[in-house]
Amino acid sequence: MTVPPTGPLLSVEDLVVEHRTPGRPVVRAVAGASLRVAAGEVVGLVGESGCGKSTLARAVCGLHGAASGRILVGGHPVRPLGLRRRDPALTGVQMVFQDPYSSLNPRRRVGAQIADGLRTAGDTTTDPADLLERVGLPRAFASRHPHEFSGGQRQRIAVARALAARPSLLIGDEPISALDASAQAQVARLMRDLAVESGAGLLFISHDLSVVRLIADRIAVMYLGKIVETGPTAEVWADPRHPYTRGLLAAIPSPDGAGVLPAELPGDVPDPADPPAGCRFHPRCPLVMDACREREPDFGPVACWLHEVEPSPSS
Ligand code: SF4
Repeated sequence: MTVPPTGPLLSVEDLVVEHRTPGRPVVRAVAGASLRVAAGEVVGLVGESGCGKSTLARAVCGLHGAASGRILVGGHPVRPLGLRRRDPALTGVQMVFQDPYSSLNPRRRVGAQIADGLRTAGDTTTDPADLLERVGLPRAFASRHPHEFSGGQRQRIAVARALAARPSLLIGDEPISALDASAQAQVARLMRDLAVESGAGLLFISHDLSVVRLIADRIAVMYLGKIVETGPTAEVWADPRHPYTRGLLAAIPSPDGAGVLPAELPGDVPDPADPPAGCRFHPRCPLVMDACREREPDFGPVACWLHEVEPSPSS
């Protein structure tokens, strides 16, 4: 008898992922990140471009090997796919990519591509058009090719194809960043509704906090390969504690469309091949102290010396 796994659906524990190019310094794209997603939960992973979000997602899908740490899906360890076509831990993981055009086969009808997902789940009876309806598209679209659709429609088709495989964990890697503004919130809400409805977990990766706020139960903020703050979305939104989170929130464009890059978040993300000593955020932090340049705040839920939690006597 198979014992059902307990604990979180996805558990990323102290994950390190390195990019190695001959003759160049090793880049630690993920530098000791930990993250959890429960069944039926939506976690938004946010941060600026180049912070390691997508590398973390690809490692969860077995597309990148880990230098250290581990990833568990449903209690089973994920190993890099390499030449293997299947990993038992990954059978329930589906990813929706940033560019829906390149992730769909331009030469095949979308109905046939959704049917591939159904076959992955061993489903030979569901009509692919049923899934098109679930993502808000007409059934007749099943006989068309990807080039006949808008970006938003193509991303809905990519979501339908992912859902066809009945994932227990859905990962969206910047799934809305290539869409126009009107389609972004619609597709994000659709992914949330469908994941929750089916009891799957959703790891939604985006640099757009305003959309993540709409759909995520919890937020994880990533900076230069590390998770620097996690918490329920409403709490992080109302009271961001890490100076980087505060800067990100303050940088959200105002309703009148004027983008604000605040004084609190100057400069760019440093080179991950040569990260700053101590707290990685210290060269950009308005609250930097001497200790921040020497020691790394390697703890949670807020990795900042201003929010160090004293260990309890029993721990
Ligand atoms: Fe700023 Fe120091 Fe906190 Fe880092 S540890 S975020 S430098 S106050």
